[in-house]
Amino acid sequence: MAKQKKSALSEKKGVSHSEITNKSSIEKIKNKRKEKLATKTLIDSILNKDITALSRAITLIESKNPKHLEQANSIIKGCLPYANNSIRIGITGVPGVGKSTFIEVFGKHLTDQGKRVAVLAIDPTSSLTKGSILGDKTRMEDLVKNENAFIRPSASGNSLGGVARKTRETIILCEAAGFDVILIETVGVGQSETTVHSMVDFFLLLKLAGAGDELQGIKRGIIEMADAIAINKADGENLKNAKLAKVEFNRALHLYPEKSSNWQPKVTLCSALNNEGIDAIWTLILDYIEMTNKNNFFNKKRSEQNKFWLIQTIENQLKSEFFNRPEIKKELANQLQLIETNKTTPFVAADYLLNLNKTL
Ligand code: GDP
Repeated sequence: MAKQKKSALSEKKGVSHSEITNKSSIEKIKNKRKEKLATKTLIDSILNKDITALSRAITLIESKNPKHLEQANSIIKGCLPYANNSIRIGITGVPGVGKSTFIEVFGKHLTDQGKRVAVLAIDPTSSLTKGSILGDKTRMEDLVKNENAFIRPSASGNSLGGVARKTRETIILCEAAGFDVILIETVGVGQSETTVHSMVDFFLLLKLAGAGDELQGIKRGIIEMADAIAINKADGENLKNAKLAKVEFNRALHLYPEKSSNWQPKVTLCSALNNEGIDAIWTLILDYIEMTNKNNFFNKKRSEQNKFWLIQTIENQLKSEFFNRPEIKKELANQLQLIETNKTTPFVAADYLLNLNKTL
């Protein structure tokens, strides 16, 4: 019907239907070419360290529009050969421990040495609070203005998996744009620190003296993941407590099994506010890199992380495809109700839904 209308219209104008089809496919080809050119320009600009292009590409990564996603994938692919050559550092600690103050001085310390630093964040609460960490750029006033630093607030999203994926891809782009050090900030709550751990070379835990683990809301597992613990706010009256805490943490760390990197985690004191102990932290990170390069753990860890992310990406993709199918959505609601009234078991219901999925 629509076709007939179109032909009638074209005949009226003296244009044949095939000419219109040709025109629209030429248009499509032209658009595709334009897109390709835009993608190539973006890749070239990123490789030329153009921050505006980098930001635009990250926005494409974060977009929900499938077209943008396609372009983002092409950009990532184009950047991939130039990635992988930075030091990726995860920084975690409870709110108030001094993460942003620390990143501000640490970032300056690095840029003073001629390094280019990118700061990213994984914030499990960002979808609720619209970016509680890094969202407010004024938290790193000086670093924001520093031309060798790039600060990107956490990608928002309702699943940590989704946010994590975007951050992983953003790391690739930042590396292609020539950033030497990538800092990834996260709050020490929920699962986010495990996620960050799976994408960095070095994991730094910021702690406060004088507060027990429960009080600081930090789980035992985080200490186990840390390559270094920096006790921040080791200044003024707090210095004495910080020194005591250092002894305690050192003792506690010896109770953990040896790391497969052979690296013995270090405990160190710092005052982000007074810019003290910052240099020592960078030195110990460099020691770590040197040691793990020598024993080949550095590359092994990155390759393990890549394998992990492959599986993770497939799992996420399958999950979202499954749960977004309208038939599954409808039947899942039914099965949940049956479970509520004890008319089925979770396993039978799961079997049923998975089998239904196979028929779709
Ligand atoms: P975040 O929530 O972990 O990012 O913590 P902030 O960096 O926002 O710091 C929280 C508060 O602690 C701020 O008032 C900082 O000025 C203060 N602070 C940060 N680092 C230090 C430090 O080394 N010593 C002292 N005394 N205060 C600090």
